[in-house]
Amino acid sequence: MRPSIIFVFLLLCQSLFAAPKSLPVPGGIIVLPLEDNVTSVTFLNKRAALFKEKGRIYAVLPVPLTVTPGVYEVLLADKKLKIEIEAKEYAVQRLQIKNRRKVEPAREDLVRITKERSRKQKAKSFRSPGFADLDFIWPTTGRISSPFGLKRVLNGRPKAPHRGIDIAAPEGREVFAAADGIVVDAGDFFFSGNLVFIEHHGGVVTTYAHLQKIVVKPKSIVRKGELIGFVGKTGRVTGEHLHFGVMIDSIYVDPLLFLPTRQPSIYTSEKLSKISSGSAKRETIPPEG
Ligand SMILES: [Zn+2]
Repeated sequence: MRPSIIFVFLLLCQSLFAAPKSLPVPGGIIVLPLEDNVTSVTFLNKRAALFKEKGRIYAVLPVPLTVTPGVYEVLLADKKLKIEIEAKEYAVQRLQIKNRRKVEPAREDLVRITKERSRKQKAKSFRSPGFADLDFIWPTTGRISSPFGLKRVLNGRPKAPHRGIDIAAPEGREVFAAADGIVVDAGDFFFSGNLVFIEHHGGVVTTYAHLQKIVVKPKSIVRKGELIGFVGKTGRVTGEHLHFGVMIDSIYVDPLLFLPTRQPSIYTSEKLSKISSGSAKRETIPPEG
C-alpha cells in the first residue's frame, strides 16, 4: 500500500471514535485498526499500546519527537506496513527560572539527577499486560500555559523540549487520575518536584508533576477521577501549574491527542463519583506476543 493511501485510511479510522486522535508527526501518534490475530505491533523498536473500541482492536504507535519526517515501517506480526511521518515545527519558548540551580545544577545535584533518571526510566517503561485504558479525563482544569513539544531555552541555555502540557491552575487545586491504572512511582524529583506516574495497561503511562502534595502511594490501584494530589510549584517551575505527560513504551507524545476536546469548567464531587463508577470494567487481556 502506498503511504498516501494509508494516510487517507488513517483519517477514516479516526472518525470512528473520539479519542485518541491519529497525528503522524514527531511527538504524535498513529492509530491503526488491527486484525483480531495481531497482538504485537512495533514501530521504530517501540511497542504499540493496544486498545479496544466497540469490539475492534487498535494499536497506538508513539512517534518520538526526534524522528526525521519520512516513510517508516510498522511491524504487524509477520507483516510490514509503510507509514509516512510528516513534518511539524514546534515553537521556541524562552523562560527565566529564578532558582538558577535548577538550570545549572550543583555537583551534588548531578548525583541526585543521575539516580532519578534511572528511577524515572524504570517508571516510564513499566508495562502491565492488557488493553490500554485510553478513555482519559482532564486531570485538572485551567488554561494551557505551555503546549507539548516547545523547544525550550531556560535562562539562555537550550534544554530538552517540553514533553507534556502545562495546565495553569492555582496551588491546591485537585489533581485526578486521567484513567484507571496503577501508581508505578510517586515522590520528590529534582526537576519535576512532586511527581506521580500512573500506568494504564499496555505501557501507557501518565505523569503529573510539580504537585504541592501527593496523596497516593506507589503500587496502589487508582480509578479514573480519583484524587492523586494537588497543583503546586515544586521542582523547576516559573509558577504554579500541573505538568501532565503521556508516554507509550517510554516515548513522550502530545497529551492533547488523548484528552476530550472540551475541558470541564470545574470538577464537582458529584461529577467525579459518576466518572469513577462509570469507568468500564477491564477487558481480558490479549496474549503478549
Ligand atoms: Zn511542563
